[in-house]
Formats: sequence, structure tokens, C-alpha cells
Amino acid sequence: MDAATFRKLGHEMVEWVAAYREGMERLPVRSSVRPGEIRARFAVEPPRAGGGLPSALARLDELVLPGITHWNHPSFFAYFPSNTSYASILGDLVAAGLGAQGMSWQTSPAATEIEEVVMDWLRQMVGLAPEWKGVVHDTASTATLCALLCARERASSFSQNRAGLQGIAAPLTVYLSSQAHSSVEKAALLAGFGRENLRFIDTDEVHALRADLLEQAIAADLVAGCRPCAIVATIGTTGTTAIDPLESIAATVDLAGPDTIWLHVDAALAGTAMVLPECRPLWTGVERADSLVFNPHKWMGAGFDLSAYYVRDPEHLIRVMSTNPTYLRTAEDGAVTNYRDWQIPLGRRFRALKLWFFLLDVGVEGLQARLRRDLANAQWLKEQFDAAPDWERLAPVPLQTVCVRHVPQNLAGDEPALTAHNREIARRINDSGAAYLTPSELKGRQMLRLSIGAETTERRHVEALWFALQAAAGG
Ligand code: PLP
Repeated sequence: MDAATFRKLGHEMVEWVAAYREGMERLPVRSSVRPGEIRARFAVEPPRAGGGLPSALARLDELVLPGITHWNHPSFFAYFPSNTSYASILGDLVAAGLGAQGMSWQTSPAATEIEEVVMDWLRQMVGLAPEWKGVVHDTASTATLCALLCARERASSFSQNRAGLQGIAAPLTVYLSSQAHSSVEKAALLAGFGRENLRFIDTDEVHALRADLLEQAIAADLVAGCRPCAIVATIGTTGTTAIDPLESIAATVDLAGPDTIWLHVDAALAGTAMVLPECRPLWTGVERADSLVFNPHKWMGAGFDLSAYYVRDPEHLIRVMSTNPTYLRTAEDGAVTNYRDWQIPLGRRFRALKLWFFLLDVGVEGLQARLRRDLANAQWLKEQFDAAPDWERLAPVPLQTVCVRHVPQNLAGDEPALTAHNREIARRINDSGAAYLTPSELKGRQMLRLSIGAETTERRHVEALWFALQAAAGG
């Protein structure tokens, strides 16, 4: 492809994306294709000759769109908001155009230094102290794996340089709540702790980790000859946005002595809320953590993928992650940040650019206004459920997620029937294409999980959801 063709097709594609976005509200939120339906539209063999791109691009509506679930749709209430703002799309376009690989400072100084700038902006935006240093990771899952690897190496005095975990006599134990995201368990397993050494701590009536049980578990492990290594606290659990009591957890960590138990905070969704000063009491105690992750690629607006991983001791992270073969050494090493040493992969794309574009476009005040709108929408929806006798709310609403189930009088007390009834409500709504929500289970009870916060979602969409739910529950 030459530059002239790129320019022509590029303009067409920007036009296509803008038209898609403008017309998205008319599309069914969730794709309804059957498995294999999209694949069947494609040739089995790769194209022998080139030149096929323009005609394929002209058929995007037909080839691709039916198989897309529209995460930026105003009636997307499933999983979590995953906002890809226009500004961040442009950032990704420029990053792709530059094609820069920012593994070392020297391989594109702007990639490193703009990342340093925006990570520090973000730190200030969520009210963290200047000691925290940030790096862009792809996902919270990866960041949590890094955190647990750092915890493992601190607790084992760098066992990776000896026999690894295989040379350690006292098992290292990891603590997480029973409501923690599956990525935490996965990270602990991948980091080699072993399932037997994971401690799932029960939660209280608002689904937050019980600090008293955590303390008991740690005490029991010490008696049993284990070495408590890491606690992962969640601010904003996936199920219900429950808030683990960070201060009490940090106090438990302190009991074990300085730098003994690593405290990692998973605030994947809720970290964005901390841009609002009024939300910051939710993570009081965060300054006592060793590491923290949140996802600007969720509620904030920097398109997938961009996770913000913060650590208080970057030297430790670098010591765990760095490799230093001769071909990667540069004259500036020691004077600059080489972000390859802050992450698992070597290569890294220029993700910071889309965050920079996004923040310039929206500004802190613009973002705060949108987040407050979403919080108010969630409170409005909560009030509707609370006032309706047949609906039961299953969790508090500290942020933008509302968890409910429909309990008609004739089914009250009959759990299997309630499960079937609520699954049917979810099926009706999701199959209709009018909205998309997540049916899920909370401590054995079927719930409908409504996650508000798409950039395009206004009060009228939340009202429409409320009406659709009532219709689906009654019909
Ligand atoms: N942690 C929490 C609390 C989450 O809700 C999620 C995703 O929903 C994750 C971690 C995983 O995020 P990622 O897809 O960035 O790995």
C-alpha cells in the first residue's frame, strides 16, 4: 500500500468509525450470531494475490458488524464499562502510525517520557502520594501477576536466583477474598504459590473481606510453619463493587512486621472513581499498600488495553523483572527509565499516547462530571428497585453497579425457581438487543448485575432499562 492509498482508505475508515458510533444506539447491543457464522463468511485459504483490502473494507458492515457486541452502546450494562473515547481512538491511530516499540528509553524516548508524564498525571488525579511510580501494563491480570511475583521474591530473598520456590522449606501463603477476581487466583497459581497455599477469606454481609478472619488465617499459618507472603485486597469487587477494608487489612499486615507481607490493591474498575475526591474515603489506607492496579480502559475512557500499575518501590520491581543481555544495553541506562524492566514482556507499544490524548480532550473536570453523572444514575436505579416490592437488592451500591433479583410473591423462598426466573429475565433482555446485562451468582443466589458507565449512557437509557426489566419480569 502506498501513502496515497493509505490516506484515502484511512479517511474512509475514520468516516466509517464515526458513522458506526453515531448509529450505534440503533444496533442490538449484543451480537446474536451463532458460533461459526462469522468464520463461514471468510475464505478457508489465505489470499494468494493482494489487493483485496478495499473491497473487504467496503463490506465491514456485512462481514464484521453482526459479530460485534457493542461495548460503547448506551444500553451496555454488562460486565463493566469499557469506554473507548474518540480521543483515545485517535491516540491509538497515531501510536500505530508511529509503529514505535518502547522497550527501552532509547528505542523511542517519547514513548517512555510521555508514559512517565501521564502516569504521574493519573497518580495526582486519584490522589496518590508522589512516592508512587506508575507503568502502563496491558491488563490488571498482568499487573497482579507482577505484584505477586514481586511479593514472592521479597519474601523469599530472591529465591529466583537460587532454586526458586522448590528450594523453600516454609510454604509461602497468599490471601484474597472469596469475592476477588479470578485473575488474582490465576496470578497466584502462575506465580507458583500452589493452590494449597491460597487462602480464600470469607466476606461479610456487604461482600467485603473480613479482616478478623484474615488475621486468624495468618495467625494459623504462622503456627503451622507457613510464611504469609501476600494479601490482595479488592477495592470494587467484580461481583458487586464491594470495598475491602484496606485500613484494617493494612493493620494486619503491619502486625507481621515491616516489609513482611506484600499488600497489593486490585482497584481495576473502582480506581477511576478516585478521580472524585468524595470517593477517596473508599480506599483509605491505600498509601500503606506496596502495589496497586486500576484500569483506565474500563470506566475512564482510554480504550482497551491500558492498565495503570503503581508501585512504591520501583527498584524492587526492576530487580525482579529485569534482564540485561548485551544487545539491550544502552549508553543511557542508569539515567533513564527502561520500562521493559517494569513488566513481563520485553516489547511494549505506545499505549500512553491514547491516555494523553484522552486526558487532554476530557480534562479532569470533564471526567469528574461524567463519573458523577454515572454515580447519580446508579443511585436513581437503586431507588427504583428499593421502592418496588418485588425486587430485592443484593448489595450496597457504593459506585455504579446495581445487583438485584426479581422475587415475585409466588416464588418467594423457592431458590431454584427464582434462579430460573431471573435467568429468564436476563435472557429476554439480552436476546431482545435492547440492553445487555450480566446474569451472575452471588453466594448461591442468582442475580442480575447492572453495570452503568458507558460514556454514552444517559439517564433516559437507565430509565429504559428499568422499564425493560419490569416488562421482562412480568411477561
Ligand atoms: N480485577 C477486577 C476487580 C476486575 O473486575 C477485573 C475485570 O473485570 C479484573 C481484575 C481483570 O481485568 P483485566 O481484564 O484488565 O485483566
